Amino acid sequence: MNRKPLIAANWKMNHNVENSIKFLTELKCSFEQDPEKIDVVICPPYTSLYIMNVALQEDNVVALGAQNCHFEDNGAFTGEVSTDFLTEFNCEYVIVGHSERRQYFNETDETVCKKIHKVLNKGLIPIFCIGETDSEREENKTFDVIKRQLTKGLDGMTKDEVSEIVVAYEPIWAIGTGKTATPEQAQEVHAYIRKEIAKNFGTSYAAEVRILYGGSVKPNNIQSLMVQDDIDGALVGGASLKPEDFLGIIEGCKPR
Ligand code: PEP
Repeated sequence: MNRKPLIAANWKMNHNVENSIKFLTELKCSFEQDPEKIDVVICPPYTSLYIMNVALQEDNVVALGAQNCHFEDNGAFTGEVSTDFLTEFNCEYVIVGHSERRQYFNETDETVCKKIHKVLNKGLIPIFCIGETDSEREENKTFDVIKRQLTKGLDGMTKDEVSEIVVAYEPIWAIGTGKTATPEQAQEVHAYIRKEIAKNFGTSYAAEVRILYGGSVKPNNIQSLMVQDDIDGALVGGASLKPEDFLGIIEGCKPR
């Protein structure tokens, strides 16, 4: 199965409007879009989505994504943003269940599941984040955690819906720490994720799911990750903030 690689930038709470546009302008100077070979998406703060969408109207070099959303369409949810607002800015992707949201904003497997349903319903692609903590890995609980997050997060999905989803395996101990999982460690979990999806939804559907690795991905380690059978791209935090680093990762990810 030939899955198209995907590189997604998660800017987190970085880059104001001015810096977002500066990034895009610099990226456009050196980035040769190759949509047949690779998908590239940037998930800036909500506040930059409007202007980045305007800047991307003429040459759609990258797709836009959001870092979160609410599972309702509208209502009394102060401070929240709905998927309908995101489609206004031509967002195509939404990160759901990032470990920082689970850790600091009480995101649960149940709310993650509701959000994935909503995102799919609106024709957007969820980037569904899962991953274990340092202590869970040390206690040999990695696969149990992954299984729980997958089972609960994908509860009630149809086979067709599941094949649309992008899963991001992000070991929490590797996020923003400079401590990347080895390619073998990552592949082991990616293969497990695909096997679990196959068990619940069928092998042919699982074969279509793109599984990204996230956790201190840099231009100098992307290639060794991408040669692994079940690694289909990366979700990138810190190294997506500078155009030159992000471009280095995109280059290292292209099929040769
Ligand atoms: C992330 O937050 O999704 C992430 C992978 O961050 P970093 O690349 O900085 O580890």
